[in-house]
Amino acid sequence: MSHVFHRHLKQRYPTAVKGDGPYLVDAEGRRYLDASGGAAVSCLGHSDGEVIEAIRDQVGRLAYAHTSFFTNEPMETLADFLVERAPEGLSSVYFVSGGSEAVEAALKLARQYFIEIGQPQRRHLIARRQSYHGNTLGALATGGNAWRRQQFEPLLVEVSHVSPCYAYRGQAAGETPEAYGERLAHELENEILRLGPESVMAFVAEPVVGATLGAVPAVPGYFRRVREVCDRHGVLLILDEVMCGMGRTGSLFAAEQEGVSADLITIAKGLGGGYQPIGATLVSERIRRAIAEGSGFFQHGHTYIGHATACAAALAVQRAIEERDLLSRVRWLGEGLRERLLDRFGDHPHVGDIRGRGLFQGLELVADRADKTPFAPSRKLNAAIKRAAMEAGLMCYPMGGTIDGQRGDHILLAPPFILEESHLDELVDKLDTAL
Ligand code: PMP
Repeated sequence: MSHVFHRHLKQRYPTAVKGDGPYLVDAEGRRYLDASGGAAVSCLGHSDGEVIEAIRDQVGRLAYAHTSFFTNEPMETLADFLVERAPEGLSSVYFVSGGSEAVEAALKLARQYFIEIGQPQRRHLIARRQSYHGNTLGALATGGNAWRRQQFEPLLVEVSHVSPCYAYRGQAAGETPEAYGERLAHELENEILRLGPESVMAFVAEPVVGATLGAVPAVPGYFRRVREVCDRHGVLLILDEVMCGMGRTGSLFAAEQEGVSADLITIAKGLGGGYQPIGATLVSERIRRAIAEGSGFFQHGHTYIGHATACAAALAVQRAIEERDLLSRVRWLGEGLRERLLDRFGDHPHVGDIRGRGLFQGLELVADRADKTPFAPSRKLNAAIKRAAMEAGLMCYPMGGTIDGQRGDHILLAPPFILEESHLDELVDKLDTAL
């Protein structure tokens, strides 16, 4: 028996021993096409020579220097790289080791910002139902997934949840996307008014919802309206791009496609592409300045913030994406993937919707296509699809959850940006076998 405390204590997984471009190889030599990038992580595939060299070089010179004593070169260069390309107003970067930590930092930056400017009563957070923002206690409290939260309640952060922007199930018959977006922005505004704007700190949302809904983009204009509502009431906007950011949807930041900026943006996964654990919170100038001119000290920190090797790896990943023009490739491959999915599964009796952006695509599974009836609540469907896909030599990311009392099952696809067209055919063939 393995002595690893794995989160699935009743399942056995194959042992991964090697990465090879878009494939992972297990101890028995079986190859798996990584169509989910793990969980939207492995944007450059698994054995990129330049990234490996950058890590070797950095470890050889300086692996780590604690940030209570030093900054380091890769950390400074990576911060410059990100700020130069970030949406307007974001002027500094707080580095952490992953997505949940990035969300925690964003929550505490928001809270400290209001303390610094003399509005400490603004501590209430608004997020969306059926959202996932991480598993540490603050990030877990933010997420709107009832079953994840339940056994850990009471949670530490005051949060209320409004509807996600989920056109397939949320947009009413005869309602235009614009009207739907406006209705949701009203719902957010009503919630702010119900709580009292003077007590609301921030609204948190993913620009394209990943794990919990399966690559669901917002309807056009939704985020611009949300931004207006937040501004009207002095509420900060936190965009969680842990999954959808760093090029996955075809632009470096998914927010670019919404035409909005944010007060805080969280990134992780594709930032380091899995080569090293790293995440970051991009901070607006307004927040940075309030803290710099106030107490001058952000009351937060982890041992590994700004880890030199992790920053060097992320810098190599992000430079590779830019130098190899992989964002255009994401858009082009994304279209190819979408066409193939529509072609193969467009008439499938149990595929109700195919949606997404770039190399971030989702299929919603339904018992009945005509009335969108979801499958009966059970976690077995995900497990069965995942098992069948792994048997077929494919990694995909099936998930399910209850939204407004209705079960929604989906499969998320988030493959590396380095695929060839033949991999798209292989992906769709293997997915078909699994389904
Ligand atoms: N936010 C979002 C949107 C995520 O998808 C995830 C991870 N699935 C997280 C936060 C948490 O990231 P991590 O698992 O790296 O802590």
